[in-house]
Amino acid sequence: MLKSKQIYYAKTLNDIFYQKKSIKDIQLMSGCTQDKKLPEISLCVRNIRELNYSIKHERFFEFGPEITLSQILEIDPAKLPSVFYEAVKSIANTNIRNIATLAGNICAKNYRYTLFAPLVALDAKLELKSETETIYLPMTKFSEVPENFVLSKIILPLGEWEVAVFKRLGPAHLITENSASFVFLADTVKNQIANLKIAFAGPFSLRSLELENRLLGASLPLSENAILEFVEAAEKLYDETCQNKQVPPILRAQFLNLVKYSLEQLT
Ligand SMILES: Cc1cc2nc3c(=O)[nH]c(=O)nc-3n(C[C@H](O)[C@H](O)[C@H](O)COP(=O)(O)OP(=O)(O)OC[C@H]3O[C@@H](n4cnc5c(N)ncnc54)[C@H](O)[C@@H]3O)c2cc1C
Repeated sequence: MLKSKQIYYAKTLNDIFYQKKSIKDIQLMSGCTQDKKLPEISLCVRNIRELNYSIKHERFFEFGPEITLSQILEIDPAKLPSVFYEAVKSIANTNIRNIATLAGNICAKNYRYTLFAPLVALDAKLELKSETETIYLPMTKFSEVPENFVLSKIILPLGEWEVAVFKRLGPAHLITENSASFVFLADTVKNQIANLKIAFAGPFSLRSLELENRLLGASLPLSENAILEFVEAAEKLYDETCQNKQVPPILRAQFLNLVKYSLEQLT
């Protein structure tokens, strides 16, 4: 006889810790839009009010992880970094975005979904809670939710960028093995590059301060040679980072084209 799946619902953060302790192999679920199959025993956390909110502070936005993607799109776009807003808007369709959550997008197992690169480039921070502990992790260091922890807050720094590029690779509004996101952010002072951030995420994620620092202080416009040298350094970094990983070759070419294209936007 087929065993039916069990779904439990948490109403508070404490419910999560209680259920995780009480029921063996129970797995957290938010909007449940990511996996085709539900786990045998799931704990739905999307109705937890204390985890569904957004607050704008002077220098950063704070999101409860269970905020849906549609709720994020209700915020005035001028108040959010453009690359983040565009990335949310590019995900799936209205019906899916009405139930899909920010937490689910960040905590996906085995793949970096559409919001990963924007959050990495923008230096977002995650708050994770266990029953006894609260830890903070920069997105650049995040790979998966540690055992016994749940994502409890996302902190998104705000700021204006002179050049802000967000591009999706692979099919629109869908995730396949060819999907990835690319973000390029740059600021100049007195015609020199003052701040530069580049992030790529999909089958793996990539951000390197060493790479970004190569161009800090460089005068604009960049020479063809400077762009070429930078793209070569990006190529080396990409190859090192995805060594031993099965990654569709097209992503490499697309990443390098986007690095070159973005640098050419700096005038
Ligand atoms: C037709 C279609 C198109 C799609 N297109 C896109 C797309 O373009 N881009 C994209 O990025 N995604 C896409 N998706 C995938 C998915 O809808 C999104 O990634 C969505 O944001 C996932 O959120 P969710 O709430 O449904 O996550 P869920 O499926 O509920 O959960 C995903 C994972 O997150 C974990 N999790 C959830 N909340 C927490 C928490 N608080 N703490 C710790 N772990 C947690 C769960 O345990 C689970 O492992 C698409 C899906 C469909 C069906």
